[in-house]
Amino acid sequence: MKEKILVGIDLGGTNVRAGAVTLAGELVARQECPIEARQGPQAGVEKIAGLITRVADEAGGRLQAIGIGSTGPVDHDLGAIQNPYTLPTWENVNIVKLLRERFRLPVTIENDADAAALGESWKGAGRGLPRLYMVTVGTGVGTAFIYDGRIYRGVGGAHCEGGHMILDPSGPECYCGAKGCWESLASGTAIGAYAREKAASHPTLVMELAGGDPERIDAALVAQAARKGDAFALEIINRAADYIALGLVNLIVLFLPDGIVLTGGVLRSFDLMEARIRSVIARHNIMSPVDKVALRLADLGQQAGMIGAARAAMLASEE
Ligand SMILES: [Zn+2]
Repeated sequence: MKEKILVGIDLGGTNVRAGAVTLAGELVARQECPIEARQGPQAGVEKIAGLITRVADEAGGRLQAIGIGSTGPVDHDLGAIQNPYTLPTWENVNIVKLLRERFRLPVTIENDADAAALGESWKGAGRGLPRLYMVTVGTGVGTAFIYDGRIYRGVGGAHCEGGHMILDPSGPECYCGAKGCWESLASGTAIGAYAREKAASHPTLVMELAGGDPERIDAALVAQAARKGDAFALEIINRAADYIALGLVNLIVLFLPDGIVLTGGVLRSFDLMEARIRSVIARHNIMSPVDKVALRLADLGQQAGMIGAARAAMLASEE
């Protein structure tokens, strides 16, 4: 008899990935294709359905259920993607209903950050940490909370956006409407913007690496200069590390999770920030056992979303 498999979909604003995952959590086949918002949701759903069929065929298993981790916001209960700014034509598309009708199988949808956290919790760096926060510091700052191996849901089932907690009310304005939230201070976008603003008045290696064009300065370039020992770049990295640490401290004192898993492009420079982040967190040990909270880097990479979406499908079918 063929092995039972699940398909986990990782739906982003530019790419969609599909992975066939065994009930033990092993990714046995994967497919990927670009997705273009301007082609509309109908063409997109067709593409996704094609990927599901191909990846299930490649795995050769018996498909049991489909899970989707999608760029958000999503409505888990309704099964719909809602007004996502990364997929602008997909407003209120009930992808769950469409795929359920097509495959006649259980289909479930989660926010992509939740799906990735569930993947890390099940098979990645979060194993053995039942209360787990995952923090992504990339273009933006995203958070996801796994509680006893399941996605924590807020009011109305909504995903909690910890990246928009306020760290400095006098900080820069964010598109979310607030000032000085975590994302506006420490995301890759924020680090790049701050470096561009300051570089003009500082003779620095950052400007040299940008070929004299401040517009080419981004967070990756700042990290590159910091690795070469440039003082200006190190200052910017330290500032970002302090804000990242502050966000983490807030999560830690609120929830005392068993662990926090870190991921995202900015945290490729975690080695440059680690000592500073750990020392800021350690200062909070008087009221909370912060030393018991594990701080780890994610280890599933791009597979986390697919594996976690498959896990979400498995959990949904048990409910
Ligand atoms: Zn914000």
